[in-house]
Amino acid sequence: MCDWCVQHGDGKIWYLNAKNYARKMYKERKAEAKGGADVDFQRIVLEQLRDATSKINTEQWPSVKKNIESFVHRTHFGQVVPLQDMEKVLDIAWPIATMTCACRRQTRGLPDDDNVYCLGIGVGMYKWERWPDTYRGGVDFISPKEAKKFIENLNKKGVVHTAWTFGTPYIGGICNCEYDTCIGLRGRIDYDVKVLVKGHYVALVDTSKCNGCRACISRCQFGALKYSPTFEKAEINLQKCFGCGLCETGCPRHAIHLEPRSKFPVLANSW
Ligand code: SF4
Ligand code: SF4
Ligand code: SF4
Repeated sequence: MCDWCVQHGDGKIWYLNAKNYARKMYKERKAEAKGGADVDFQRIVLEQLRDATSKINTEQWPSVKKNIESFVHRTHFGQVVPLQDMEKVLDIAWPIATMTCACRRQTRGLPDDDNVYCLGIGVGMYKWERWPDTYRGGVDFISPKEAKKFIENLNKKGVVHTAWTFGTPYIGGICNCEYDTCIGLRGRIDYDVKVLVKGHYVALVDTSKCNGCRACISRCQFGALKYSPTFEKAEINLQKCFGCGLCETGCPRHAIHLEPRSKFPVLANSW
C-alpha cells in the first residue's frame, strides 16, 4: 500500500475510496489551502518546479526536491491508474466533465478545440468558472458511460491515465498524459520529482503467449519495456514499470497482465 492508501484508503486503494471525492472533503481541502475555492494548485506547483530547476545548483537539488515533494503530496500530485481502475473511479466520482489540458496548452500551444484530454470530477467542477486560466475552453458535463468511452478512446491512442489531488486527499481530476507534453510526467521521468507517483500494479509478460510482435513496446512511456532479440519476446523491467497498463491493452495476443505491486516485496515501497 502506498502512503495515501494508508492515510486515506479506509482499507481500499485510496482512489477507490468514495470519501476522497465527497463534498465534505472538498470543503476541508479549501480550509487546508487557506485560499478558498480559487486556489490554482496547478499554477503553484508549476511555478515551484520552474523556480527550482532554473535557480539551484546540484548540491542544493536533493533538499529542493524533498521540499517540492512534501508540498505537492499535501496539495496537488498525481498517481498512475490503469484503465480498469479508472473505470471504477468513474462509477464513484460525480459530477464528471471534459475539459482542456493545461499542460498541452503550455507545452504545445494547442487550441482549445484540439485539446480536450482531461476529466474534471467532483463538486469542485460546479465552480469551474472561477478558474479561467486552468479551465479555459469551458467544460462539458457528461455521464459515467460517456466518460468511460472518452478514456477508452484515449487509451487506444496510448495515453497514461492519472488521478490528481487538488488539496490531498480530495481527487478533482483525471488526466490522460503523454511524456512529451505532460509537465507531471516530465517532472518525474526527467528529474525524478514525485509529482507523479507509480501506480498500484506492475505488468508481466506471459512468454508462452508473446510472439515478439513488438506492438507493446512504443506504448510504454517509462522505458520499462524492451524487445529481447535473444528470446524474441517482450521484456519488462519491473523497477521501471509504473503500472499504467498501456502494454496490456495494446497487446493483440493478451500476453501481458497487471499484478499488484504489493505482491513483489522488492517493489512494494517503490512509488
Ligand atoms: S497532467 Fe496530463 S492531462 Fe493533466 S493537464 Fe497535464 S498533460 Fe494534461
Ligand atoms: S504486443 Fe504482446 S505479443 Fe507483441 S511483443 Fe508485446 S507482449 Fe509480445
Ligand atoms: S511496462 Fe507496461 S504497465 Fe509498465 S509502465 Fe510500461 S506500458 Fe506501463
